[in-house]
Amino acid sequence: MRIDVATLFPELMEEYLSASVIGRARAKGIFTAECHNIRDYAFNKHRRVDDTPYSERQGMLMQAEPIYRCWRAVCDMQKAQPYVIYMSPQGRTLTQKKCIELSRKDRLFILCGHYEGVDNRVIEKIVDEEISIGDYVLTGGELPALVLIDSVARMLDGVLAEEDGFMDESHYNGLLEYPQYTRPEVWEGMAVPPLLLSGHHANIAKWRHEQSLITTLEKRPELLEKCELSDEDLAIIHNYMKNKQSV
Ligand code: SAM
Repeated sequence: MRIDVATLFPELMEEYLSASVIGRARAKGIFTAECHNIRDYAFNKHRRVDDTPYSERQGMLMQAEPIYRCWRAVCDMQKAQPYVIYMSPQGRTLTQKKCIELSRKDRLFILCGHYEGVDNRVIEKIVDEEISIGDYVLTGGELPALVLIDSVARMLDGVLAEEDGFMDESHYNGLLEYPQYTRPEVWEGMAVPPLLLSGHHANIAKWRHEQSLITTLEKRPELLEKCELSDEDLAIIHNYMKNKQSV
């Protein structure tokens, strides 16, 4: 996979994209991420990329032309059209399902807005999809773009140490992850559930699934409404609720 990012702050993006799991995956060539400074595509000597909005609103808006030129340069360089995402508080909220869908694309071009946003015409012209990371407004699209890249890249083959490790994690199958424990066996008088020390794989797998259901019920019950639950799952939930009420 190749990801191109159009931003006013490529250094800021680079810092994160060069570190830890994502940095190592990039260094190994599992995916390519290149950050382009939109200012390099400005057509004036001061490299200005913003101007006042026609709506008589305060603030500045990013102009369409430098963004368009940046996108054109990437298309020309790759001789292909990437799938274009504009990070925007007006987009659909990013979900794990969307990350899985995007991880199957060969090429992404991510546009980060700044100031009051971008001239709407460039959105109409080049953007395939607007994606938000939540119903709040940030000063720029860089953090949202990093959130998107991180969540998409960690699902690519070879990025995580454990192959398909993400499949057990929260949201992959609609549920939250079961509780996790590491050494020591007893900490502050609190012991790890004995079953996890038994080495009995089938029972541990069953425990994990039950705990996933219970954790989801306790922390994000609304997620269960969108899950396909088996009769067995419903029985686990029912018994848990009954036991809770009788305590
Ligand atoms: N005026 C815009 C509006 O009300 O819809 C908000 C502009 S915001 C201050 C500047 C930039 O930050 C946006 O162009 C977008 O790229 C990014 N941004 C802000 N909040 C975001 C969010 N929740 N998700 C994704 N991108 C966001």
